[in-house]
Amino acid sequence: MVEGINMTARVYTIASGKGGTGKTTATLNIGTALAMLGKKTIVLDADIGMANLGILLGLERCKITLHEVLAGTAQIKDAVYDGPAGLKVVPSGLSLKGFQNSNPEKLKEVMSALVEGMDFVLIDAPAGISKDGVITLAVADKVILVVNPELSSMADALKTKALTEMLGRSVEGVVLNRVELEKTEINRNKVSELLGVKVLEMIPEDANVRRSAAFKVPIVIRAPNSPAAIAFSRLAALLAGEKFKENGAKEDTESFVDRLARSIFGGK
Ligand code: ADP
Ligand code: MG
Repeated sequence: MVEGINMTARVYTIASGKGGTGKTTATLNIGTALAMLGKKTIVLDADIGMANLGILLGLERCKITLHEVLAGTAQIKDAVYDGPAGLKVVPSGLSLKGFQNSNPEKLKEVMSALVEGMDFVLIDAPAGISKDGVITLAVADKVILVVNPELSSMADALKTKALTEMLGRSVEGVVLNRVELEKTEINRNKVSELLGVKVLEMIPEDANVRRSAAFKVPIVIRAPNSPAAIAFSRLAALLAGEKFKENGAKEDTESFVDRLARSIFGGK
């Protein structure tokens, strides 16, 4: 991709199957981290029934949201708000009535306006395999599955992967979230073996995630050196095809073997 002259955005749908795995948290933090890398990024709350991406940014009082756009009473350009670090945000409404009035099918036509001038579009998908969920998978270039290290989460992710492929789309990889290294027996290799896709990143269980949510600031901004923030930033760098720089200095792309070789044989 050549800087500055991108013709089309990459559209990632962040899905899971099971609810509560961390889709919204991941969408917000990967999106913010991409924006911090200078990528033109927009996040869209397509969980139109249980919207909470906007809540995590204090945007819950916005009058025009994706609900109004999907109801045909507003234009998508009027539902785009400024988030942190230059991130653009399309929140969904909170009312049940707004949800009932929304036509998820309309998302397809909304997408063409959303991708314009953007590098990345991240779609926060609803849990489950309802109609609105299926459409979010169908409009993606690639799907990223957010999975917790438990079998029920794996089973649901597997189903979501199958559904994605039935729709002619593919899964980019898995984000294994809420990992407690000392507790979990499910490791990276087991997950990629079980799901048949690569694990893009492992996000640790981190109390800073909830704390940042309470302050309505993404963890990659509020606590950039926390374990979860570092993992989200590294994932964003991977998606952007850039080297990850922790604290803007230390590069963490060197493998263990390379590091070992360097300490034995020297070199810079
Ligand atoms: P989903 O959108 O998939 O329903 P959320 O992103 O809303 O999931 O996350 C569900 C809950 O888990 C939230 O309370 C969130 O703060 C918490 N959470 C998500 N990821 C982590 C993490 N890595 N460490 C600690 N808590 C997390
Ligand atoms: Mg959510």
